[in-house]
Amino acid sequence: MIIEFGRAVKSGKVVGIHYVLKNGAGEEIDRSEPNQPLEYLHGAGQIVPGLEKALEGMQVGEKKNVKVNPAEGYGEVMPELRGEVSRSHFPKDMPIEVGTIFRAQLPEGPTDLRIHAVIGDKVTVDANHPLAGETLHFDVEIASIRNATEEEQSHGHAHGPDGHHH
Ligand code: ZN
Repeated sequence: MIIEFGRAVKSGKVVGIHYVLKNGAGEEIDRSEPNQPLEYLHGAGQIVPGLEKALEGMQVGEKKNVKVNPAEGYGEVMPELRGEVSRSHFPKDMPIEVGTIFRAQLPEGPTDLRIHAVIGDKVTVDANHPLAGETLHFDVEIASIRNATEEEQSHGHAHGPDGHHH
């Protein structure tokens, strides 16, 4: 009989997970590809803090339902990250619709902005993460656990099975 102790999710392990993510309203937002678990480097902040914490110590084959509050997910909605822009500032050919995400050059650097509202000539843009303010519900199963390579450790993320994914 071979017993491998210490094969649990902890810092320095590359962990493969199957997951389904639903928002507070129970709508599915995202899920892992069938037969292709998402791999991440545990302890490196690659996944939201609330989920990372909940997976700590789990073993291959274990399943868990994890509820993550906004503070440990994508943060609370910050009203100061919303601003009004005149429609004339947008390119003529750009569709101005609620929900459209576009990249803007701000003084802080390139930022993804989402169109939050359109009223007449005024467009409200939002720099909050699309899932800010959401309570997240993950159905997770641990598919694999392995030691991170030195390269992965130094990069702070997991690499794909074919060597590199960036
Ligand atoms: Zn890398």
